[in-house]
This record gives sequence, C-alpha cells and structure tokens, in this order.
Amino acid sequence: MEWIERVGNLRQWTHNGTRAPHKPLLLLYALGRFQRQPDRSMRYSDIERDLRELLQDYGPAHRTSPAYPFHHLVSDGVWEVRTDDGEPSPGTGVRVLRESGARGQLVPGLRAALSTEPALLGQLAQLLLDSHFPPSIHSDIAAAVGLDLEPAEVAARTAGPAPERRRAAELRRRVLVAYEYRCAFCGFDGSIGRVPVGLEAAHVQWWAFQGPDELANCLCLCSLHHKLFDRGVLGLDSGRRIAVSQEFVGHGTAARTQVLALTGQTLIGPQRGSARVAPEHIRWHTAQVFRGEARLAEHA
Ligand SMILES: [Zn+2]
Repeated sequence: MEWIERVGNLRQWTHNGTRAPHKPLLLLYALGRFQRQPDRSMRYSDIERDLRELLQDYGPAHRTSPAYPFHHLVSDGVWEVRTDDGEPSPGTGVRVLRESGARGQLVPGLRAALSTEPALLGQLAQLLLDSHFPPSIHSDIAAAVGLDLEPAEVAARTAGPAPERRRAAELRRRVLVAYEYRCAFCGFDGSIGRVPVGLEAAHVQWWAFQGPDELANCLCLCSLHHKLFDRGVLGLDSGRRIAVSQEFVGHGTAARTQVLALTGQTLIGPQRGSARVAPEHIRWHTAQVFRGEARLAEHA
C-alpha cells in the first residue's frame, strides 16, 4: 500500500481549501503515458504544451507554469527528473528545464509496482481524481491525460462502498425535494414515468475540499448545468444570481438560451423552509472554480 499512501499524501499540499491540482494533473498525465509507453521518459520540452493546457483547463484560475509540478513532484517520491548530463532537476526555470534536456519519469519502484500489480494504476488514478476533482469531470480529465480506465472498474470505484452510496443517495433525495425536482438554473424538470431523469445534486464547495453534505452547500442541477458549474463556466454572485464566465463562448441558439441567457438570473428554489446556498461556499466556488471574469447581464 506504500504507493497508495504516497499518492494520497499529495493532498497535504492543499491547505485551507485552496486547490492545487498541479502535481495531481502531472501524475495523472504520467500514469496515462505509462499505460502506453511504460519505459519511456518524458522530455520537458515535449510535454510542456500538454501540461500547460491541462493546467489551463483543469487547474485553478491563476496561471501556473508547467515547470512547477515538473520540478516539485520529485519531492513526493513518485517522480524523478534527469538532465542530459545525468544531473537532477535544475529547478523550476522554464528555460533551464528546456535547455538542459530535463526528462521526467515515474520512479523505478513505482514503475515496477505498476507492472506487477495491474490493478494499481486504476487505483492510483481514481485516488487522484477523487481527492482533487468532483465526479462530474473525472472522465473528462482521464480523457485529457490519455488514461484508459476500465469503465466497469471506474463505475464500481466511483460508486464507492455501500455506506458511501447510501449517503450520496440520501443527499440527492433531500436536494431534489428541496428544489422540487427542478434545475435551480434553468428549471429543467424531466422525468421518465415518476422517476426524475437528468437531475443531480451538485456540491458548491467540492466534497474533496471539505464541502459538507448539506443543503446549504448543494444545488439541484440538470446534467448540463452541473457539468458547467463544476468546470467554472457557471457560478453564483454574492446575491445568489447566476454568473457566466466571459471565457465561455457559444454562438448557437442552444448555447445562447441554455447558458448565456442565464447571466444575472436568480436561482429557482429551494422551496420555503429549505436552507439556501451559504455565502462561504459561494465564495469558495468563486475563488477556486469559476473561470476568470463574469459576463455582464444584457440589461446592465
Ligand atoms: Zn439546468
């Protein structure tokens, strides 16, 4: 279990609910590469662009250099860096990493363990995803880093042990009742027979970052708006009005009516007597998830 513990400890790098997904993203990327080319190291200059895009798409709002995780992941005992001269990592300077021919790779012990225990790669990947990202975007990240996770395995692990599943099911039920089975953003209320479909309980402050399983930290959202909320396209302002990121672009009718037109709208629900989303969780989402600046409402 040594490797699971080491990878789990990457989490200690995050404090006070601040997201720092740089190292987890690099490690997920390295696991994806290992799956395809187990013995090949990665030259910094070759993967710099991939890493920069990953950080842009799934990292926090502030910009970070890809050199940062490339150098610093070494200290966690799962990754090693060597230059063309056989020296250790020269630091976090982009130029020196490029010019020294720095190459990174999972440490030999981890590569050996991954080769002898076929299930370990999936376990480590899922641990990283669970510890740093909400479930709605796990498959997007796996695809972005080129990780091929066994769909059945992922489903089983995502669902978790029985008490976890009961906890999630009970929370979903409470959230859907509070919002009267409607998306708080668009009012979508589809069902098949009597069973609601395409409606989900979304955490505002992510569960992986100490967001509690309480109505004050949850919204009932349709699948589309849940995904856009977790990707930081949608957010809430201090008056609980819907914010749409300036970085979101869509010209078609659907993008306009289902996303852009939400700018400045007030939430639908919850019903009277149910806790509304608390300001501290909105502040966390705004600082850690929402992308860039909010668009202005058309009438503003
Ligand atoms: Zn919706």
